[in-house]
Amino acid sequence: MKISQSHPRFESLRTRELLVQAVINGIVAPQGLLAHGRGEAFDYLIGEKTLPSARKAAKVAAASLLLADHPVISVNGNAAALVPNELAHLASTIPADIEVNLFHRSLEREKKIASVLKRLGIKNVLGVGAEASTRILGISSPRRNVDPDGQGRSDVVLVPLEDGDRTLALRKNGQTVIAIDLNPLSRTAQQASITIVDNITRALPILVTESRRLKRQDRESLRRLVRDFDNRKNLESTIREIIAYLGKWNR
Ligand code: ATP
Repeated sequence: MKISQSHPRFESLRTRELLVQAVINGIVAPQGLLAHGRGEAFDYLIGEKTLPSARKAAKVAAASLLLADHPVISVNGNAAALVPNELAHLASTIPADIEVNLFHRSLEREKKIASVLKRLGIKNVLGVGAEASTRILGISSPRRNVDPDGQGRSDVVLVPLEDGDRTLALRKNGQTVIAIDLNPLSRTAQQASITIVDNITRALPILVTESRRLKRQDRESLRRLVRDFDNRKNLESTIREIIAYLGKWNR
């Protein structure tokens, strides 16, 4: 469907259309539409813009990815449908590996997501089919299967649009988890090491810009950024920012 750019909800409608097309093309599972709907509701509550706390978390996340020995970006259908170019840019800037990891797993969908990313220049997409041969303990969903060369041995994992189980399991494994989640109350948001409460469509471009900028800085200043960050306090700031925004509607 062609959406007019003058429509007041152009961006939201464009995003929905991308996801619907991705369901038709077999990249997103139908359940991905419901997950997106949950995210959209929270996006309304934050005013559909990047909050200062999210910008801060994105900066720290970029620093953490740049400092990592083996950073991995975990990609599901929604992420591949909404921000494929930005995922490829981020992976080449850091540089980081990309691994497909799906809740509603099917080999066909994994291959389709991998080919979207390969068309954008990612040579090796991890986690497809039998390559995801390692199991993370403590997860009951198919997301437990990971690539031994990817999340299986990574120290920092970016998990946009995640489920809480895997975030907790990776944390228990000693890995740093960076989450992007519009819901500051989700288990994922609460359990991640660094939570960016923002729409993935806004957060990924910020992550790419920050990574390119911070890459030029010395490693000690990046370490300081990560050391000084407190995710719990930052999430409290997010809640305060949401309350302040909602207060404007309470005239
Ligand atoms: P948890 O297990 O962490 O409590 P959940 O059960 O809510 O999370 P899902 O049902 O998989 O997890 O929901 C998907 C999550 O992804 C939601 O928290 C939603 O806010 C978030 N989300 C969906 N679309 C976007 C988006 N475009 N950008 C950022 N976050 C999103």
